[in-house]
Amino acid sequence: MSKYIFITGGVVSSLGKGIACASIGRLLESHGLKVIIQKCDPYLNVDAGTMNPYQHGEVYVTDDGTETDLDLGHYERFTNQTTTRDHNLTTGTVYNSVITKERRGDYLGGTVQVVPHITNEIKQRIRSLGRRTRADVMIVEIGGTVGDIESLPFLEAIRQLKLELGPENAINVHLTLVPFLNAAGEHKTKPTQHSVGKLREIGLQAEVLLCRTEYRMTRKVRSKIALFCNVHEDAVVEARDVKDIYEVPLSFKEQKLDRLIMRTLKLKGKGRRNQSLDRWRRYVVRPAIDPQHKVCIAVVGKYMEVPDAYKSIFEAVRHGGIANDAQVEIRPVESDLLDAKNAEKLLEGVNGVLVPGGFGARGVEGKVRAVCFARENKVPFLGICLGMQAAVIEFARNVCDLKKAGTTEIDKNVEIPVIALLEEQKNVTAKGASMRLGAYPCRIKSGSLSFQAYRKHQIHERHRHRYEFNNEFKKTLSSRGLKFTGICPKGSLVEIVELANHPWFVGCQFHPEFRSKPDRCHPLFRDFVEAALEHSAR
Ligand code: GLN
Repeated sequence: MSKYIFITGGVVSSLGKGIACASIGRLLESHGLKVIIQKCDPYLNVDAGTMNPYQHGEVYVTDDGTETDLDLGHYERFTNQTTTRDHNLTTGTVYNSVITKERRGDYLGGTVQVVPHITNEIKQRIRSLGRRTRADVMIVEIGGTVGDIESLPFLEAIRQLKLELGPENAINVHLTLVPFLNAAGEHKTKPTQHSVGKLREIGLQAEVLLCRTEYRMTRKVRSKIALFCNVHEDAVVEARDVKDIYEVPLSFKEQKLDRLIMRTLKLKGKGRRNQSLDRWRRYVVRPAIDPQHKVCIAVVGKYMEVPDAYKSIFEAVRHGGIANDAQVEIRPVESDLLDAKNAEKLLEGVNGVLVPGGFGARGVEGKVRAVCFARENKVPFLGICLGMQAAVIEFARNVCDLKKAGTTEIDKNVEIPVIALLEEQKNVTAKGASMRLGAYPCRIKSGSLSFQAYRKHQIHERHRHRYEFNNEFKKTLSSRGLKFTGICPKGSLVEIVELANHPWFVGCQFHPEFRSKPDRCHPLFRDFVEAALEHSAR
């Protein structure tokens, strides 16, 4: 049977619960344990797919094509698991299935209520994932902040689960804030006391407190928290700000959080202890905080003031830095503000240009302009999804002289539709989970930059799009030097384009960023940053 760690958050949002879950997962994996992390999102959306990046940051896509919260990206980056639909439940999915059952008559005669029907559905989803994956440890992150109305059913479900499972099989780790008040010159424990009190009101007693703090807490502060929050002193763990998020598992390790959890849950390590965390320190943390080289990469997107909107992109670029022992300075460039007049200035001195995915008309012309800069100046270029589509449009317009080339996403009647709606999308009207989503195979041509990166012909990558390269223009574009180096074997959809006579220029229809990890950088990001390093040495 799996052991359960329920992670809740208190006082304020954005304390980094996702990173904390992922780091605890990493820590336990270093003891040879199989860890699965699941996220409960209290919002009513069935999935994150239709949410605006301004509101919710990036939409992370799993292999099985689920559009999820970005925390699943943290889980995959820190741990060995590959997440699926079942790793993310939202209030929307829970109610959806309870209501479907009600309509079918499954509860005939009964009054359907939050307790027990909704809470049973939540418990069943949590337990079945543990059972099915045979996880040694299931970490369940409860989204939101304790005290929110929306997360109550989830908290009630874990209250019941803790009772059912028993104290050796389930614990609650509560992430809280311990602010340092400069005026008073000390840490303040009251917000934490209140938040733990709020948990107690609903019948939950935290076993471990993870205290977010800017400065080291004194022993006195820790004992005070322990006393008032009814936990042992060694269960008051500091989650102090670190230079790099990848240091968090090491910082938890130093405070023996792994031992505390394993002792409480009566978990025994399997295999070689601690080995992988040494590797993590050597191959991830050291190069991340003390790199030898430096490059600058422009990311040209339209949500640049919301860093979470490009979370996986930024992380994957950093992984490219880690793999190349380089610090990557990211220059955020708002695509709406980029035009022919200021492109040179905004992109001056960069060693690489990355154009990420996106939707809608706003900012597309700026992205096309950024591609033009990278192509003409022989600056390494990586275009992802819409970024690849922008590369095709730019090439058609400026190299093939098809000035009216564009995408039907922006103009249905565009004269030269080099990018057009996927055939399978023609009758789709619903917006939720209706794109071409998840992992699809792609075959890579020998001798290409992509083959050099992947070193194999058959790959699988994750997708999230409605439009594709229009094969009618293949001949024209390839005669002028655009190379189609990756094709989806089912239906000949163009997955990768490259440029002849350019040091490194790759556009891909899929999203490589979702599969990059700090200790196993995605090959395209690794080679892109390597090319940027070469550019910087030119
Ligand atoms: N909007 C484009 C499409 O739907 C690109 C999608 C993306 O970049 N994720 O095809």
